[in-house]
Amino acid sequence: MMTSMRLLRSNVDYASLNRQLEALSLSEFLQWSLVTFGEKLVQVTSFGPTGIVILDHLMKINPQVAVTTIDTGFLFPETYALWEEIERRYKINITVIHPQLTPQEQERQLGPALWQLEPDVCCHERKVKPMAVAVEGRHAWITGVRRDQSNSRAQTPLVTWDGRYNLFKLSPLANWSRDDVWRYIRAHNLPYNALHDQGYASIGCLHCTRLPMNAVDERSGRWQGRMKTECGLHMPARPFTACPE
Ligand code: SF4
Repeated sequence: MMTSMRLLRSNVDYASLNRQLEALSLSEFLQWSLVTFGEKLVQVTSFGPTGIVILDHLMKINPQVAVTTIDTGFLFPETYALWEEIERRYKINITVIHPQLTPQEQERQLGPALWQLEPDVCCHERKVKPMAVAVEGRHAWITGVRRDQSNSRAQTPLVTWDGRYNLFKLSPLANWSRDDVWRYIRAHNLPYNALHDQGYASIGCLHCTRLPMNAVDERSGRWQGRMKTECGLHMPARPFTACPE
Protein backbone atom coordinates (compact mmCIF):
# COMPACT_ATOMS: atom_id res chain seq x y z
CA MET A 1 0.00 0.00 0.00
CA MET A 2 1.25 3.47 -0.81
CA THR A 3 2.34 5.32 2.26
CA SER A 4 4.17 8.47 1.30
CA MET A 5 2.69 11.84 0.49
CA ARG A 6 4.92 12.03 -2.55
CA LEU A 7 3.65 8.76 -3.96
CA LEU A 8 0.08 9.74 -3.31
CA ARG A 9 0.44 13.07 -5.05
CA SER A 10 2.37 11.85 -8.02
CA ASN A 11 0.88 8.53 -8.93
CA VAL A 12 -2.33 7.86 -7.11
CA ASP A 13 -4.69 5.16 -8.32
CA TYR A 14 -7.71 6.01 -6.20
CA ALA A 15 -9.73 2.93 -7.13
CA SER A 16 -6.96 0.58 -6.12
CA LEU A 17 -6.08 2.55 -3.00
CA ASN A 18 -9.69 2.67 -1.87
CA ARG A 19 -10.15 -1.03 -2.47
CA GLN A 20 -7.23 -1.76 -0.16
CA LEU A 21 -8.39 0.72 2.48
CA GLU A 22 -11.95 -0.65 2.56
CA ALA A 23 -10.56 -3.77 4.24
CA LEU A 24 -9.16 -1.81 7.18
CA SER A 25 -10.86 -1.18 10.50
CA LEU A 26 -11.42 2.43 11.51
CA SER A 27 -8.37 2.34 13.78
CA GLU A 28 -6.24 0.84 11.04
CA PHE A 29 -7.44 3.43 8.55
CA LEU A 30 -6.63 6.27 10.94
CA GLN A 31 -3.21 4.78 11.67
CA TRP A 32 -2.55 4.66 7.92
CA SER A 33 -3.71 8.29 7.66
CA LEU A 34 -1.37 9.39 10.44
CA VAL A 35 1.58 7.53 8.93
CA THR A 36 0.83 8.90 5.48
CA PHE A 37 0.10 12.52 6.30
CA GLY A 38 1.69 12.99 9.73
CA GLU A 39 1.28 16.50 11.15
CA LYS A 40 -0.26 17.63 7.87
CA LEU A 41 -3.44 15.76 8.82
CA VAL A 42 -6.38 17.57 10.41
CA GLN A 43 -9.80 16.44 11.52
CA VAL A 44 -12.46 19.05 10.82
CA THR A 45 -15.56 18.34 12.86
CA SER A 46 -18.89 19.94 13.64
CA PHE A 47 -19.36 17.50 16.55
CA GLY A 48 -21.80 15.19 14.83
CA PRO A 49 -21.93 11.56 16.00
CA THR A 50 -19.56 10.42 13.26
CA GLY A 51 -17.03 13.12 14.10
CA ILE A 52 -17.08 12.08 17.73
CA VAL A 53 -16.49 8.41 16.90
CA ILE A 54 -13.51 9.39 14.72
CA LEU A 55 -12.18 11.76 17.36
CA ASP A 56 -12.43 9.06 20.03
CA HIS A 57 -10.34 6.71 17.87
CA LEU A 58 -7.82 9.43 17.01
CA MET A 59 -7.32 10.34 20.65
CA LYS A 60 -6.45 6.72 21.43
CA ILE A 61 -3.93 6.56 18.61
CA ASN A 62 -2.36 10.03 18.74
CA PRO A 63 -3.87 12.69 21.02
CA GLN A 64 -1.62 15.30 19.37
CA VAL A 65 -3.52 15.16 16.10
CA ALA A 66 -4.92 18.51 14.95
CA VAL A 67 -8.65 18.96 15.42
CA THR A 68 -10.46 22.00 14.04
CA THR A 69 -14.03 23.24 13.96
CA ILE A 70 -15.78 26.07 12.15
CA ASP A 71 -17.98 28.23 14.34
CA THR A 72 -20.51 29.78 11.99
CA GLY A 73 -21.79 31.96 14.81
CA PHE A 74 -25.17 30.29 14.44
CA LEU A 75 -24.64 27.07 16.35
CA PHE A 76 -27.09 25.70 18.91
CA PRO A 77 -26.32 26.18 22.61
CA GLU A 78 -26.32 22.38 22.84
CA THR A 79 -23.54 22.23 20.24
CA TYR A 80 -21.38 24.70 22.18
CA ALA A 81 -22.00 22.65 25.34
CA LEU A 82 -20.94 19.46 23.56
CA TRP A 83 -17.81 21.18 22.22
CA GLU A 84 -16.81 22.11 25.78
CA GLU A 85 -17.54 18.62 27.03
CA ILE A 86 -15.35 17.08 24.35
CA GLU A 87 -12.46 19.40 25.17
CA ARG A 88 -12.78 18.48 28.84
CA ARG A 89 -13.06 14.76 28.21
CA TYR A 90 -10.05 14.49 25.93
CA LYS A 91 -8.07 17.37 27.46
CA ILE A 92 -7.60 19.05 24.10
CA ASN A 93 -8.03 22.51 22.66
CA ILE A 94 -9.92 22.37 19.42
CA THR A 95 -8.86 25.04 16.94
CA VAL A 96 -11.77 27.24 15.98
CA ILE A 97 -12.12 29.10 12.71
CA HIS A 98 -14.60 31.95 12.45
CA PRO A 99 -16.08 33.45 9.29
CA GLN A 100 -14.55 36.72 8.17
CA LEU A 101 -17.85 38.49 8.83
CA THR A 102 -19.54 38.54 12.20
CA PRO A 103 -23.29 37.90 12.03
CA GLN A 104 -23.80 41.65 12.43
CA GLU A 105 -21.35 42.51 9.64
CA GLN A 106 -22.97 39.92 7.41
CA GLU A 107 -26.36 41.49 8.01
CA ARG A 108 -25.01 44.97 7.23
CA GLN A 109 -23.07 43.92 4.13
CA LEU A 110 -25.17 41.11 2.66
CA GLY A 111 -28.61 41.70 4.11
CA PRO A 112 -30.73 40.37 6.98
CA ALA A 113 -31.66 36.70 7.34
CA LEU A 114 -29.30 35.73 4.53
CA TRP A 115 -29.91 32.07 5.38
CA GLN A 116 -33.50 32.53 4.22
CA LEU A 117 -32.92 34.62 1.13
CA GLU A 118 -29.61 33.23 -0.11
CA PRO A 119 -28.59 30.17 1.93
CA ASP A 120 -25.85 29.23 -0.53
CA VAL A 121 -24.26 32.64 -0.07
CA CYS A 122 -24.63 32.34 3.70
CA CYS A 123 -23.01 28.88 3.71
CA HIS A 124 -20.27 30.16 1.45
CA GLU A 125 -19.44 32.97 3.86
CA ARG A 126 -19.79 30.99 7.05
CA LYS A 127 -18.58 27.52 6.07
CA VAL A 128 -16.94 27.22 2.66
CA LYS A 129 -14.60 30.19 2.99
CA PRO A 130 -13.60 29.44 6.62
CA MET A 131 -12.85 25.87 5.57
CA ALA A 132 -10.04 27.17 3.37
CA VAL A 133 -8.46 28.60 6.52
CA ALA A 134 -9.14 25.39 8.48
CA VAL A 135 -7.13 23.26 6.03
CA GLU A 136 -4.46 25.80 5.11
CA GLY A 137 -1.03 24.13 5.04
CA ARG A 138 -2.51 20.64 5.49
CA HIS A 139 -2.23 17.71 3.12
CA ALA A 140 -5.36 15.84 4.17
CA TRP A 141 -8.53 16.50 6.14
CA ILE A 142 -10.77 14.01 7.87
CA THR A 143 -14.51 14.35 7.56
CA GLY A 144 -17.39 12.38 9.06
CA VAL A 145 -19.34 11.81 5.83
CA ARG A 146 -21.10 8.44 5.53
CA ARG A 147 -22.57 6.85 2.43
CA ASP A 148 -25.90 6.08 4.06
CA GLN A 149 -26.57 9.71 4.99
CA SER A 150 -28.07 10.71 1.65
CA ASN A 151 -28.16 9.86 -2.03
CA SER A 152 -25.62 12.56 -2.78
CA ARG A 153 -23.18 10.92 -0.36
CA ALA A 154 -23.82 7.33 -1.46
CA GLN A 155 -20.66 7.07 -3.56
CA THR A 156 -18.31 8.66 -1.02
CA PRO A 157 -14.86 7.05 -1.24
CA LEU A 158 -12.61 6.64 1.77
CA VAL A 159 -9.96 8.75 0.07
CA THR A 160 -10.33 11.30 -2.67
CA TRP A 161 -8.70 14.49 -3.87
CA ASP A 162 -10.52 17.61 -2.72
CA GLY A 163 -10.09 19.93 -5.66
CA ARG A 164 -11.78 22.82 -3.93
CA TYR A 165 -9.14 23.04 -1.22
CA ASN A 166 -6.30 21.14 -2.90
CA LEU A 167 -5.67 18.41 -0.39
CA PHE A 168 -6.79 14.85 0.25
CA LYS A 169 -10.18 14.29 1.79
CA LEU A 170 -10.57 11.27 4.03
CA SER A 171 -13.96 9.87 4.99
CA PRO A 172 -13.03 7.01 7.35
CA LEU A 173 -16.64 6.27 8.28
CA ALA A 174 -17.91 6.23 4.71
CA ASN A 175 -18.74 2.55 5.02
CA TRP A 176 -20.32 2.73 8.50
CA SER A 177 -24.08 2.84 8.99
CA ARG A 178 -25.93 5.18 11.32
CA ASP A 179 -26.56 2.20 13.61
CA ASP A 180 -22.85 1.36 13.66
CA VAL A 181 -22.08 4.89 14.80
CA TRP A 182 -24.67 4.95 17.55
CA ARG A 183 -23.70 1.47 18.75
CA TYR A 184 -20.15 2.70 19.22
CA ILE A 185 -21.26 5.89 20.97
CA ARG A 186 -23.46 3.95 23.41
CA ALA A 187 -20.92 1.19 23.98
CA HIS A 188 -18.19 3.68 24.86
CA ASN A 189 -20.42 6.16 26.64
CA LEU A 190 -19.30 8.99 24.36
CA PRO A 191 -20.81 12.47 24.59
CA TYR A 192 -23.24 13.55 21.89
CA ASN A 193 -25.43 16.54 21.10
CA ALA A 194 -28.39 16.68 23.49
CA LEU A 195 -30.61 17.63 20.55
CA HIS A 196 -30.43 14.05 19.31
CA ASP A 197 -32.53 13.03 22.31
CA GLN A 198 -35.21 15.44 21.06
CA GLY A 199 -35.31 13.71 17.68
CA TYR A 200 -32.83 15.81 15.70
CA ALA A 201 -30.75 13.64 13.40
CA SER A 202 -28.31 15.95 11.59
CA ILE A 203 -27.45 19.18 13.39
CA GLY A 204 -26.00 22.27 11.78
CA CYS A 205 -26.87 25.94 12.25
CA LEU A 206 -29.93 26.80 14.32
CA HIS A 207 -31.48 28.78 11.45
CA CYS A 208 -31.39 25.81 9.08
CA THR A 209 -31.89 22.74 11.26
CA ARG A 210 -35.27 21.20 12.01
CA LEU A 211 -36.55 17.82 13.08
CA PRO A 212 -36.17 15.39 10.17
CA MET A 213 -39.20 15.01 7.92
CA ASN A 214 -38.76 11.26 7.79
CA ALA A 215 -36.82 8.91 9.97
CA VAL A 216 -34.95 7.27 7.10
CA ASP A 217 -33.42 10.45 5.66
CA GLU A 218 -31.37 11.80 8.52
CA ARG A 219 -30.49 14.97 6.63
CA SER A 220 -34.12 15.82 5.86
CA GLY A 221 -34.12 18.30 8.73
CA ARG A 222 -31.50 20.47 7.06
CA TRP A 223 -32.64 23.44 4.90
CA GLN A 224 -36.19 22.11 5.00
CA GLY A 225 -38.43 23.21 2.14
CA ARG A 226 -35.47 23.87 -0.16
CA MET A 227 -33.64 21.90 -2.80
CA LYS A 228 -30.43 22.55 -0.89
CA THR A 229 -29.02 19.47 0.84
CA GLU A 230 -25.37 20.40 1.40
CA CYS A 231 -23.55 23.42 2.79
CA GLY A 232 -20.95 23.13 0.06
CA LEU A 233 -18.05 21.43 1.83
CA HIS A 234 -18.92 18.05 0.35
CA MET A 235 -19.85 19.11 -3.15
CA PRO A 236 -17.65 19.18 -6.26
CA ALA A 237 -15.30 22.11 -6.25
CA ARG A 238 -16.12 25.40 -7.85
CA PRO A 239 -13.44 28.03 -8.25
CA PHE A 240 -13.65 30.53 -5.43
CA THR A 241 -13.88 33.32 -7.98
CA ALA A 242 -17.16 31.86 -9.21
CA CYS A 243 -18.74 32.11 -5.78
CA PRO A 244 -20.59 35.18 -4.65
CA GLU A 245 -18.42 37.65 -2.78
S1 SF4 B 1 -26.48 26.38 7.50
FE1 SF4 B 1 -27.84 28.16 7.32
S2 SF4 B 1 -27.17 29.68 8.85
FE2 SF4 B 1 -25.55 28.12 8.62
S3 SF4 B 1 -24.16 28.99 7.17
FE3 SF4 B 1 -25.58 27.73 5.96
S4 SF4 B 1 -27.31 29.06 5.38
FE4 SF4 B 1 -26.08 30.13 6.97
